[in-house]
Amino acid sequence: MARAVEADVFADRIGLVFPVYMFGLPLIVSDFVEKLAAADAAWIGERDKYIFAVATYGGGAGGALKMLYNKMKKRGLPLDAAFSVAMPGNYAPLYGAPDDDKQKALFEKAGEKVREISARLLSGEREKFEFSNCFINAASSLVHGLMSSKIPGMDKKFYADENCDACGICEKVCPVENIKMLKGKPSWNHKCQQCMACLQWCPKEAIQYAKATRRRRRYHHPEIKLNEIIQR
Ligand code: SF4
Ligand code: SF4
Repeated sequence: MARAVEADVFADRIGLVFPVYMFGLPLIVSDFVEKLAAADAAWIGERDKYIFAVATYGGGAGGALKMLYNKMKKRGLPLDAAFSVAMPGNYAPLYGAPDDDKQKALFEKAGEKVREISARLLSGEREKFEFSNCFINAASSLVHGLMSSKIPGMDKKFYADENCDACGICEKVCPVENIKMLKGKPSWNHKCQQCMACLQWCPKEAIQYAKATRRRRRYHHPEIKLNEIIQR
């Protein structure tokens, strides 16, 4: 899930860490890069700064890192290194969560990868990019380009079923304040990122996406607590 995006642009190192959505960049990350470019031109020129990206993905990394690289390059922003980490996917409209054994295996591999990335970042490696191949980047760019204007309105397919007890957690976990509780039920307001936080964190599994999700296993990272998501 893309969380509130902010950065200390005066730091020596900046990391952009985000999930892959729709084979590309979450809209919130794309917007952040636009604002970074507009606001910090003086800082951008200082090449002793180090900017890196880490994308987490479920189905595949798609063209997310290449899109970020191109977007930053177009605005004169350097990107020094970019990595990807496989995690359990959470996109319930298309698939259910992997079983516990698969999740455990993914977490173990992700832990190893994060340790490797940390070592590479600490050594200040530049020009290290884990881009997908040209075909995947081109196809992802096409799909993402077609989909991105539709993403905010894709929340029209969400609804809360009869198991909803009006706890309001979905409203609190949404990273873009897209949900408001109306008469004891969540209502979605069409600025969705499709992060699936509302659906995955609902304690009653009451949030559905059209007809696709009723029997699908839910997922959120077992070590992340609800209050950590809400506080961010
Ligand atoms: S989190 Fe689930 S149970 Fe709570 S208000 Fe939202 S839909 Fe209803
Ligand atoms: S409405 Fe749900 S899927 Fe959309 S951004 Fe908010 S939490 Fe994510």
